[in-house]
Amino acid sequence: MDHFHYRGGHYFAEDVSLEQIAGDVGTPCYVYSRATMEHHWKVFDAAFGDHPHTILYAVKANGNLAVLNLLSRLGSGFDIVSGGELERVLQAGGRASEVVFSGVGKSEAEITRALEVGVRCLNLESAAELERVNRLAGDLGVTAPVALRINPDVDPGTHPYIATGLRENKFGIPPEEARCLYRLARDCQHVEVTGVACHIGSQLTQLSPFTHALDRVLDFVFALQDEGLSVEHLDLGGGLGIPYIDESPPQPDDYVQALLETMARRDCRLPVSIEPGRAIMGNAGLLLTRVEYLKPGNQHGFAVVDAAMNDLLRPALYQARHEVVEVSRGTDTPECYDVVGPVCESGDFLARDKLLSVKAGDLLAIRSAGAYGFVMSSNYNARPRPAEVIVDGSYHHVVRTRETTAQLFDNEQLVPQ
Ligand SMILES: *Cc1c(COP(=O)(O)O)cnc(C)c1O
Repeated sequence: MDHFHYRGGHYFAEDVSLEQIAGDVGTPCYVYSRATMEHHWKVFDAAFGDHPHTILYAVKANGNLAVLNLLSRLGSGFDIVSGGELERVLQAGGRASEVVFSGVGKSEAEITRALEVGVRCLNLESAAELERVNRLAGDLGVTAPVALRINPDVDPGTHPYIATGLRENKFGIPPEEARCLYRLARDCQHVEVTGVACHIGSQLTQLSPFTHALDRVLDFVFALQDEGLSVEHLDLGGGLGIPYIDESPPQPDDYVQALLETMARRDCRLPVSIEPGRAIMGNAGLLLTRVEYLKPGNQHGFAVVDAAMNDLLRPALYQARHEVVEVSRGTDTPECYDVVGPVCESGDFLARDKLLSVKAGDLLAIRSAGAYGFVMSSNYNARPRPAEVIVDGSYHHVVRTRETTAQLFDNEQLVPQ
């Protein structure tokens, strides 16, 4: 569900026409719909009913301060994977006590800062990390709340770069090892193990990998309980997919129901958190771009636009497919185009084989670009990063101004002599 739609042949974000935004802000720019992102968050939250739960939005999907602030106002917690993301959450008004810190490579500085501000939990991924956290917590004179991230060895059936819950992936700890680690952690003075965590991948379009992984997590929890080790909460990660073109992933409420049913079947009433990122922001945003040139090609033409792989990396990185729509519905017979950017790489395409009725100067919207869009942008080819806009009903707010070319070399110095 999203709030992008045609009105009289013109594409709108909520009640604002994208032509108006392009006129005000220029292109390329990311446009997010507040109503859409809030709706997605609320569906996850409501689906839990009275089961104790927390929605921890995964900041890496879209970390714009305005996005984090709006979600924080709804009561969201946050899943972070770096010290930079922690500062973003705090800057946006998020509560440290609602932050969970994930990731395989937390540095000493990152762990210390997280303990100083008092995050809710550090999700640990190795014995070496347990040792480091225990030592740093001791230095600070605090007890670190931690969970162990289990690698359940479940195939999420997604692109290999975003599968994280297979034995061969770098993430998580195999359950057998995690049991030893739990015992070790019990003897660590400055660490308290409160939970078990798991995250098996992203853009999952089936429920069964989620429920299989949860079953493995529950096996693990019961095995711990048999040893007299208690677990206070489960963190089941994110990963629910979204429709980009023709995918039909489960609805968020069906996904939550499946998790709750799996737990009920095994008589588990532990509080649960989930960490959706893509499912909240993906379809709440698009990338607005203008056609610079139409160029004939061998099989079909190229629509050369002013956005590129540095603005939206997903097609180049994951062979991801995005829907492309005309902002003003054309009247000419549609023709087939590859939508490509100005960057000097043949991998610089945003979409392929699209039937479009366009001419130079027209606007296009690359849909489903609200997650893993701006956050992956770079300055490759010395291209300033795009602006970001949030539409709220009939208002639109620039929540990040377009980078200037002067900013590109702000941090650079010449070699003296
Ligand atoms: C990336 C990530 C998420 C979010 O994944 P989505 O597919 O965007 O929902 C959640 N938890 C962890 C640990 C992650 O690394």
